[in-house]
Amino acid sequence: MKESKMTFNEVNARREKVLSTKRSLYTQKEIMNLLKEDKFKFSFSGHTDDNGEWAIKNAKRSVLGSLEFVDMYNNEMITELELAKSKGEDYQRNEGLSTIKLADIDKEISYYRDRLKSFKERKIKETEKIDWSSSREFHCFKCGMELNYILLDENTIGLGATTSMNKEDIWDCTCPFKDGAKGHSYYITVPTGELVFANYFDDKKIYTEADKDRDCYIDSDRKEMEIFEPKEKWNGELSLNTHAGRIGLMNHYSSKHNIAFGQMGSMSVGIYIKKGKKDRIVISSAYLSDRVNESDDKEVVSKAKKFLKEYRLLGCISLEVWRWMAADMSILKKNKIPIKFAEKDSYRDENILVKVKKGKWKVTHQFRTDDCDEDKDLEYSILEFENETK
Ligand SMILES: [Zn+2]
Repeated sequence: MKESKMTFNEVNARREKVLSTKRSLYTQKEIMNLLKEDKFKFSFSGHTDDNGEWAIKNAKRSVLGSLEFVDMYNNEMITELELAKSKGEDYQRNEGLSTIKLADIDKEISYYRDRLKSFKERKIKETEKIDWSSSREFHCFKCGMELNYILLDENTIGLGATTSMNKEDIWDCTCPFKDGAKGHSYYITVPTGELVFANYFDDKKIYTEADKDRDCYIDSDRKEMEIFEPKEKWNGELSLNTHAGRIGLMNHYSSKHNIAFGQMGSMSVGIYIKKGKKDRIVISSAYLSDRVNESDDKEVVSKAKKFLKEYRLLGCISLEVWRWMAADMSILKKNKIPIKFAEKDSYRDENILVKVKKGKWKVTHQFRTDDCDEDKDLEYSILEFENETK
């Protein structure tokens, strides 16, 4: 996505200019009635993987609901204001809301009449937002864009970016992940050949006066800081909630801290190493050997069997914080991150130390809670030896 340097006003001016060349199609009232008769198709520009009935139903409910509200609310306000006027009283809609003085009622009535007039008479143009009073009607969980329902043409309602996004081309809002949100690859280096896996690195240190300027102070009560967490936390480009945001986080941890990171769900994982050459580590289910004995699904059993023939389990980690992380031992030592290995009989490890080839490793994270069959897509994350670069 190309970010624009345009100001909000410039984007708005451009939008007005673009709209002036577009055809006027329907009034909001007409759109409301056409929706009731199911006369529109919906186009999601790839922002949802679900183009079926559920997505359409939801979109229809959202647009229709907001238009019906505009219609009902303005009509109700006019009726109630006229009633108050006929009784010669001030008007108060709800307790706590300001009172409209009798002397101002006519002005208020004409305000709601204007809104209703526009609802009935002002035509929405193609590519224009349908309900101009609402913002952020659709959130894409892949690219993270906040979108509005727009009138694409006389038969179609689509999704468009809002002007507040400062996008240079506000009409081109096809989802960058329209073909699916696939795995993401990045690199880390393992100079010591000792790679430590964890649920997450407990990198909280006591906050000191000297750290005040470091801008990574996270919790005023606990007076702690987290070294590896992004300073520009959760700004949209770094987010646990969207595929794009999770890619941003993987890039953050790997490029800024040389740490491998993969977002998971509430689950346990096993760390497996390829038998023989040991140049491939796979993060998969912690329960693969149980599946071989217990599952009734032939495909699940045969996939698990084949996997266990090629890989050896090194240990299991319970992901209380829904992620796994891994880093070279030197990073943990440098930052004084405590490393705890499992008690003798414990089923779960806190950290797993893997002796690997020294050098550059490629990490590919494929797991998505919303699109992964945990029993059949066994390679949640893959770490592959690339070369001996330090
Ligand atoms: Zn999207």
